[in-house]
Amino acid sequence: MDYQAVLDEVAALVKPQIGRGRVAQYIPALASVDADRFGIALADVDGHVTGVGDWERPFSMQSISKVFSLALVLADDGEKLWRRVGREPSGNPFNSLVQLEYENGIPRNPFINAGALVVTDRLQTLTGDASTTMLDFLRSESGNPDLAFDQEVAVSESAHGDRNAAVAHFMASYGNLHNPVPTVLEHYFWQCSIEMSCRDLALAGGFLARHGLRADGSRLLSQSEAKRVNAVMLTCGTYDAAGDFAYRVGLPGKSGVGGGIVAVVPGRCTLCVWSPGLDARGNSVAGVAALDHFTTLTGWSVF
Ligand code: GLU
Repeated sequence: MDYQAVLDEVAALVKPQIGRGRVAQYIPALASVDADRFGIALADVDGHVTGVGDWERPFSMQSISKVFSLALVLADDGEKLWRRVGREPSGNPFNSLVQLEYENGIPRNPFINAGALVVTDRLQTLTGDASTTMLDFLRSESGNPDLAFDQEVAVSESAHGDRNAAVAHFMASYGNLHNPVPTVLEHYFWQCSIEMSCRDLALAGGFLARHGLRADGSRLLSQSEAKRVNAVMLTCGTYDAAGDFAYRVGLPGKSGVGGGIVAVVPGRCTLCVWSPGLDARGNSVAGVAALDHFTTLTGWSVF
């Protein structure tokens, strides 16, 4: 397949959607991003990467970080992790508190904030420095040693982080956080703040298309663990619109409020698309449309 030609066609088809939606407003560093940006990259399982538009321009990865923290913890803990976090779609906003009370402080899945805080807590226990562990992993998988935290974003997340703090304290009251709440929050915010381009993210998510194998050929996850991460992405990866994303795109995907979405075609490639205008659920309008066109043009949905 001529990937470059496919991506060029996707970019042409999606043009009317670029600039639609609303850029995330909850912190100034995200609110000031130009809504008219669009980029898409595709990395095949051999690590060849191609892209169009703003595919080499770094953006705030935000909740896409939740995929990498999950994979890093699953690599160590295996099934044990699921005692502390569920794997069902929540059907509620990503920062919701309501289900936690009914489910004794066990979050519904690792991709809502509550679940990601538990996963970050576990990564912190395992490594002593959750956010640096993730940054090192991303640098190595993307082959980009310049990846970095965005300090302005991290500090601003923390300053506007009352809801995440409430979620964390609530879970701590059930004994489902093992490190001090401020430590867990800090590492969570720093992870969210990492700046990456579509190119970097398509490469860094390559292990999900390679059934668990890292860029250097070593194994991060078993084949079934990689399947499990992809399955949770499909069912829970795009906020409370995972059903609609599966319906339109038909691929495992994880979005973030920075406007990025990583999507996986197992056995073939990992894609990353970025456009900052978000729909009401927090997914990139042009990003979802681009992936929709991609699977229509290639026939490469998992269905
Ligand atoms: N840092 C954001 C928060 O925790 C992540 C939002 C997102 O991308 O879903 O509120």
